[in-house]
Amino acid sequence: MKELEGRVAIITGAGRGIGAATARVLAENGAKVVVTDILPEREEVASKIKVEGFDALAIKVDVTNKEEIDQAVEKTMEAFGRIDILVNNAGIFPPSTLEEMKKEDWDKVIDVNLNGTFNWTKAVLPVMEEQKYGRIVNIASIAGAVIGWGGNLVHYAASKAGMLGFTRSAALSLAPHRITINVITPGIIDTGAPQAVNTKEALEAAISMVPMKRMGKPEEIAHTVAFLASESASYITGACIVVDGGYSLV
Ligand code: NAP
Repeated sequence: MKELEGRVAIITGAGRGIGAATARVLAENGAKVVVTDILPEREEVASKIKVEGFDALAIKVDVTNKEEIDQAVEKTMEAFGRIDILVNNAGIFPPSTLEEMKKEDWDKVIDVNLNGTFNWTKAVLPVMEEQKYGRIVNIASIAGAVIGWGGNLVHYAASKAGMLGFTRSAALSLAPHRITINVITPGIIDTGAPQAVNTKEALEAAISMVPMKRMGKPEEIAHTVAFLASESASYITGACIVVDGGYSLV
């Protein structure tokens, strides 16, 4: 039997990148997956997973929209009858120096990355508490823990640092309900996002600092999510798993 057989997983921001890879890997491990994103590509991600013979459902959800989140929880319950795994992955990273940053820029990043995590976690909690089972995995960043990243992502760094604190504190209140919550801090992952927000030179310079001398693959984050969502990780909660090829060690 596959590790996640019978489990139902919701992944946010799963139309591409780390989220799409996570949906595929969780499905390959036996979970029924709900592919949510504002990006229309969510439909294609879910279709491909279904073609492989697994269960998948695509739903348009903006993580800042409580109504859409509540409707997605309802649709998931109608389709699959339970929610075991939530992966808070959706994130934005528009670069801006502190000097240039407007209050709206700050608010938008905090709203998607941090408030989105809160919104989705709150929405699935009643179901997970009722089931007395849940696995929540948050995708933060080493930028929220140990790396300054060129100094042009203060809002992003603050939002991701917030996810780390959120995870630790929530772990204490969720443990009695048999719900674990953990956070992953990826380094530079080859999703197109690092290329979009850095010059070629800046990205090459950053990769040269990584002891493994390469970017990570989205699947390398996805497999870590699958582990944290599995029975093998049943005694891990409030933990931060660094997946960065050693970048934060230098
Ligand atoms: P990505 O390719 O840009 O994927 C993120 C997805 O989230 C996109 O489809 C995006 O849609 C969606 N999204 C944005 N705002 C949303 C909202 N309000 N509601 C729902 N979905 C929304 O990024 P990625 O590289 O896979 O990163 C995934 C996560 O890993 C992010 O949280 C990121 O901070 C984190 N991370 C990434 C790296 C890296 O190097 N790639 C490193 C550390 C941490 P749009 O395209 O329309 O915005």
